[in-house]
Amino acid sequence: MKPQLILLGAPGSGKGTQASRLVSELGYNHISTGELLRKEIKSGSELGQRVQGIMDAGKLVDDNTVLELLNANCDLSSNAYIFDGFPRNGEQSKLLDEVVIKEASSKAVYFEIDLDMLAARLTNRRTCSGCGEIYNLLSKAPKTEGVCDLCGSSLTQRKDDNEETVKTRLQVFKETIEPVLAHYESTGRLARVDASQAPDEVFKALRAITE
Ligand code: AMP
Repeated sequence: MKPQLILLGAPGSGKGTQASRLVSELGYNHISTGELLRKEIKSGSELGQRVQGIMDAGKLVDDNTVLELLNANCDLSSNAYIFDGFPRNGEQSKLLDEVVIKEASSKAVYFEIDLDMLAARLTNRRTCSGCGEIYNLLSKAPKTEGVCDLCGSSLTQRKDDNEETVKTRLQVFKETIEPVLAHYESTGRLARVDASQAPDEVFKALRAITE
């Protein structure tokens, strides 16, 4: 089976966009902890209510809550996954190996990009409410304002993609990423891609890593 693939990178570094392509072209399953948490909020569950304020503020939800959600939503016995948004700190890197991935092989890819480029990317990001396609008003605007080119559904802006929350999210990323990189580097499982390149170039690099 293909190795489990762990995408590491700041919010807005392109992990979600690349994950969709890896799913459609290489047959991976995509699991995004941010997406799972947003679904919980939308459903009004107790868990969703508990995490909403934390997510709106751009802070990290506690490790156990996210780990439980992750474990309940993936089946590694028969599937290769792309982990997007998990791990977010050193402890989560250990938990992912020990509790979720266990003996399966895994590789991590760090999306390297100058963090100063990301605030504008995030505040201009829009997502299709139907198919999940990701747009950017600066670099990949929809043909008709507010409407998905692919399925015609309306585009929405994530609640945490506002200027103030984006600042906090990028700061949290800066404060937490080093032990995560060290975890994968020390076990020889870390690759890096230049995420400032065009999406096609980033995809080529990812393809080479997964082969
Ligand atoms: P994302 O969609 O990955 O940008 O995540 C959106 C928000 O969900 C983050 O700002 C956190 O509040 C929360 N979140 C997602 N993944 C995790 C995680 N692995 N650990 C803690 N919080 C998370």
